[in-house]
Amino acid sequence: MKFQDTQSMDKRLELISKLSKTFLARSAKIDEDGAFPFQNISELKMSGYTSLTLPKRFGGEEISLYNLVRFQEFIARGDGATALSIGWHMGIIQDLGEKKSWNESMFQMLCDDVKNGALINNCASEPQTGSPTRGGRPTTSAVKQEGYWLINGRKTFTTLSPVLDYFNVTASIPESDQVAYFLIPRTTQGVEIEETWDSIAMKGTGSHDLVLNNVRVKEEYLVEYIEPGKKGASGWLLHIPACYLGIAQAAASYAIEFAKSYSPNSIQGTISDLPNVKQKIGEMELELMRARHFLYSVANQWDHSAKDERAHMNPELGAVKLSVTNSAITVVDLAMRIVGARSLSEKNPLQRYYRDVRAGLHNPPMDDMTILLLANDAINRCND
Ligand SMILES: Cc1cc2nc3c(=O)[nH]c(=O)nc-3n(C[C@H](O)[C@H](O)[C@H](O)COP(=O)(O)OP(=O)(O)OC[C@H]3O[C@@H](n4cnc5c(N)ncnc54)[C@H](O)[C@@H]3O)c2cc1C
Repeated sequence: MKFQDTQSMDKRLELISKLSKTFLARSAKIDEDGAFPFQNISELKMSGYTSLTLPKRFGGEEISLYNLVRFQEFIARGDGATALSIGWHMGIIQDLGEKKSWNESMFQMLCDDVKNGALINNCASEPQTGSPTRGGRPTTSAVKQEGYWLINGRKTFTTLSPVLDYFNVTASIPESDQVAYFLIPRTTQGVEIEETWDSIAMKGTGSHDLVLNNVRVKEEYLVEYIEPGKKGASGWLLHIPACYLGIAQAAASYAIEFAKSYSPNSIQGTISDLPNVKQKIGEMELELMRARHFLYSVANQWDHSAKDERAHMNPELGAVKLSVTNSAITVVDLAMRIVGARSLSEKNPLQRYYRDVRAGLHNPPMDDMTILLLANDAINRCND
């Protein structure tokens, strides 16, 4: 069955949940081998999932942000790396469809390819800039030649790199102060992936280096000018907290199942009957409930806001990311305390969740930037 075969949300959640269970069965091996989840991504493509955010004007379904984050959370319950990876693609297409910041014919060309399974990601991070959200200028350069751009540089953290069809790359234009996104098809000469990804978290994201050696793309492949560090409000980035919430839910479910079945001979019954264990289960539940309400209410607010209202949502969007990601870390910690030393066994999924959930701290926006934004916002409101 494909997503496109039904409009029923219950049926769609059933479908994503089925896929997620299959991903869960594979996730330990993928993590252990540091492999890329080719099969998971291929199954998401075959299910029609990867085209769900395509805009209606190009024959897509344009699902809401609320529905996108729900699906993403489910995927992450099975495999966090798969969720984060496909989340970039889903979110970018949704964002481009809403913002209409590209020339429509270029975007339509991309959408037509996405209908046939093509995948895209933004490649902005570099060793010299650190997180692009802090405003560093890319050292990757794009030089204009007769009808072409000549692009050279290296991008780090290129999630999904083993299967991307399009790299949406930031580069500086040396003869001006301008910085822009350039759309680079994988098949372009001079595009190379260097397999550098050795992170202990989110091992399955294939976030290798993208190396661009005298890559030539036509003029119109400069798709969007940007100001480094000045991204507008980006609802689609809620796929990030959705991912870490899914991982936290998987950890909590595992710990509760364990508590309901573990019966050391010092007690009658199982440890789920003990007050010290119930306390932690209750605390996990509270964190998850709070995180879920915050995430889904802001996603819903985004869906029901006009463009000018969305432009003011950065503080809330940042707060959701900070709050949900940190709650997810707390939940995984509590889950490990419930399970005890077994949680540190290589065979135990909690040690993977423990490593994976930490990556959330290093996805945008970073916590210190959000706190500063919230402070400035509060101070400005007091001046009004
Ligand atoms: C799993 C994963 C997937 C990712 N996928 C992608 C992707 O698909 N595409 C992509 O482009 N990127 C991706 N990234 C990269 C990510 O967006 C960041 O660029 C990367 O994590 C580096 O951020 P950082 O905060 O560690 O680095 P830095 O920005 O170098 O920061 C390191 C430290 O220095 C401090 N610091 C640095 N500069 C400043 C400053 N100006 N002001 C205050 N403090 C500063 C920070 O607080 C931090 O403590 C991914 C990252 C991860 C972990």
